[in-house]
Amino acid sequence: MEQSGDDEDGTAERKMRFLFQLRSRGVTDPRVLDSMERIDRGLFVRGQFADRAYEDTPLPIPCGQTISQPSVVGLMTQALNPGPRDTVLEIGTGSGYQAAVLAGLCRRVYTVDRHRRLVREAEAIFHDLGLSNITAQVADGSRGLPDQAPFDRILVTAAAEDPPGPLLAQLKIGGIMVVPVGQSDAVQTLIRVTRSETGFDYDELRQVRFVPLVEGLGQT
Ligand code: SAH
Repeated sequence: MEQSGDDEDGTAERKMRFLFQLRSRGVTDPRVLDSMERIDRGLFVRGQFADRAYEDTPLPIPCGQTISQPSVVGLMTQALNPGPRDTVLEIGTGSGYQAAVLAGLCRRVYTVDRHRRLVREAEAIFHDLGLSNITAQVADGSRGLPDQAPFDRILVTAAAEDPPGPLLAQLKIGGIMVVPVGQSDAVQTLIRVTRSETGFDYDELRQVRFVPLVEGLGQT
C-alpha cells in the first residue's frame, strides 16, 4: 500500500503512471508533459483528498471550488500553445496548479481569482516552488486585467455563457484564448478563440465541465 512520504521507487512509479494517463488522454505536446512532470499536483491538493492528487480526476479545494482534472489541464495548455516569450492571463487561480504548469512555458503569468483565500494559498505555493514569474491577484476576471493588457494568451478556467467581451478586447492580434462556454450546470464546450487582424476565429475543442465564472468578488 502506498503511503505519503513515498520512497523513491514509489514516487517514480506514481509519476510514470500520471504521465501515462495524460498521454493516453491526448496530452502529447512534449513541452506540456515536461512542465506537468515538474509540477507536483500533490502540493495543490490538501486534506482528505491529498492521496488522490495523482488520479486523473477533479478534486474539491476550499471556497467550494475544484482543481481541474490533470488531463484537462494538459489539453487546455496544449490548445493555448504558449510560447517562451508570451504573457499569459489565467482567470480562476483556484489551487494554483494550472498557473504553475503555465509558468514553465511562458515569460509571465498573471492569474486572478475572486476568492482572496485561494489567491493567498496559491501565492504561498508559488513562493515555495520559486515560481517568480507568476503574479496572483484578487480580481473579477470577467473584466480581465486592463492594467496589464494586452495578452498573448488568455486561459479561462471557469465556464462563461459566452466569451467575455473585456477578455476578447484584451487579447493581442495573433493571440489565443481558451475558454469553456455554456450553461454552468450543464456540459460545456471548450473553445479556442484566435484573434486575427480582422476579427475572431472560433474552434470547438471538446466537452468539459467547469464551475461557473461568477461576476464580482467572493466573500472569502
Ligand atoms: N485553474 C484552477 C481551477 C479553477 S476552478 C486550478 O488550477 O486549480 C475555477 C476558479 O475560478 C475558482 O477558483 C473560482 O473562484 C474562480 N472564478 C470564478 N469566477 C471568477 C471571476 N469572475 N473572477 C475570478 N475568478 C473567478
